[in-house]
Amino acid sequence: MRFKATPAEIKGMIKSGQAVSGDIFFDYCVPENKMSRPDDPLEGVSLENECRELGITLVFMDRTMDPIKKGQRREISEAIVAIVDNDQSGKDRIELAEKSICAQLSLVRMGFSTGGRPPYGSYRALVRVDGEFVRELEEGEVLRRHGHHVVWLPGPESKLAVIREILEKVEHTPAGRVARYLNEKGVPAPDAGRIRKDLGVTHLVTGTWNANTIKNIATNPLLRAVTSYGKRSMGDLRRMTPEGPRLLEENDYRPDGEPKVIRNDEGQLVTGTARFEPLITAEKAERIASILKKRAGSQRDKPRSQEPEKNPLGARIFDANCGWPMYREPYLNSFRYVCAKYHQTKPRKCDHNCADGITAAKLALAVIRQKLLPPGMRSRLESKLREGIAAATRSEKADGEVVVRQSELAELRLQMTRAERNAAPAESAEMFQGIQRIHGELKLREQQLQRDLATLQVQSNSLANPDATIQAALALVERLPSLANDPDSLESIGELFCIVNAELFLNFHKVQKRKRIENKVLSGIFTLGDAPSPIVKYKGPTGRRALQQIADYQCKNPESLSPSGSVFQTDSGRKAKSSGNGNRAGGI
Ligand SMILES: [Zn+2]
Repeated sequence: MRFKATPAEIKGMIKSGQAVSGDIFFDYCVPENKMSRPDDPLEGVSLENECRELGITLVFMDRTMDPIKKGQRREISEAIVAIVDNDQSGKDRIELAEKSICAQLSLVRMGFSTGGRPPYGSYRALVRVDGEFVRELEEGEVLRRHGHHVVWLPGPESKLAVIREILEKVEHTPAGRVARYLNEKGVPAPDAGRIRKDLGVTHLVTGTWNANTIKNIATNPLLRAVTSYGKRSMGDLRRMTPEGPRLLEENDYRPDGEPKVIRNDEGQLVTGTARFEPLITAEKAERIASILKKRAGSQRDKPRSQEPEKNPLGARIFDANCGWPMYREPYLNSFRYVCAKYHQTKPRKCDHNCADGITAAKLALAVIRQKLLPPGMRSRLESKLREGIAAATRSEKADGEVVVRQSELAELRLQMTRAERNAAPAESAEMFQGIQRIHGELKLREQQLQRDLATLQVQSNSLANPDATIQAALALVERLPSLANDPDSLESIGELFCIVNAELFLNFHKVQKRKRIENKVLSGIFTLGDAPSPIVKYKGPTGRRALQQIADYQCKNPESLSPSGSVFQTDSGRKAKSSGNGNRAGGI
């Protein structure tokens, strides 16, 4: 093999970390003897083959692979070695991922640092396993010494003074105002002048305080001498739980299938006791945390906006597997519906069943168009309506009763006239009183009949003008095509669904994909009007707080377990509010 590069050139590349120069290519990220560490060993082998077919010679630590001609058969032994090597490197990665999670868990529990930069007001120090201080570490200094660990210790004093001032103020002053105060006082903000990369953009961190820096400092568990780990989870092979590494789940992936960084629940946080005296008491820390939480009004429990134009199938789409409604959530540049039971319960009591929002809305729209709006539908509908109304009028009780009451009233009035006529020539006082009594009774009956007739006539009048009724119904029907023909107006589609009372019930099943199991829509039922629901809909509360109360209650009273949860009333009898439906104001 011949390189054009000189040894000096190669040395220079290594020194400067340069990856490509002329025909030399260095992959610094692969320290071992494989080109890649794919999860699938065959993928690694085919990558090697592709390179070799391009005429590239691969030089590993332990062997050299010459270029191969396209279509040339590989030695079987070579292929087997390649697969085994690549398989082993995949296993190595998993082992490494698991080991590092276990190591971090035990480090944090012993109060040592799990890596990263120390928070504001603390510095890194090298200590022995027994905690004995060895020396302060320089920023970015990497040091590995057997029987030693890194800890975060409070300091320097100038920053601790700022922290104390923040803790003093933040209890009765909004964080934003505390930030302004520090800025005006000219106190250097954390990370001021540091270069950071956010969303792939390198930028200089501004030297100003803001509400978030204040909040982060005020709620830092390290102030209570508590080390913590597991605020976020990342990595593509294993992720941490307090019990150890776990496999990745649906929620750990981005829509494009790439693993994403997720923020864990507070319950997932693993803590240990740091190796210094706490700067504040647990009570004060708790008080500050609750004050800040109260002020912010937890975003999580904030009512979501109920904008129909953003949620056309709101409360009209259901997960038929569990009977729960599906909630809208922003997704990519659009939105999707996710099973509310999955969404709102922890541990998850249903699967990550979800359906694309636009697809679901357009499907429902297509069904309505097909069923309700075919050509000639309007005239057919009109004649149907006329028939229906005529039948309704004929059978209309009110009409018949009006007739009955009217004749009764006429008869009554006749009797009363007769009674009056007879009263005059009454032969005795008794007879007169008798007639008077009858007249009184007739009078009462007359009043009753008049009241009845007034009510009946109002009822009858509503159908007295069948044309108006039909026109109103047809006007509604005429709006349907215009509502349905604007597929981009989710608002009018939502209105349409509301008019025809559309409901969508989706069945999901599990599909084994290469990397994970996905929950896919298997089938669905679409109902219109007053058609009965094909499933038993979940009718219980869906708010997180209410669900938690049910869980607590059932925990204490196991005999109360009810499938719908409806036996349980929350918030002293008030209807449990659903806080999860719709999107938060400001979202997509
Ligand atoms: Zn479900």
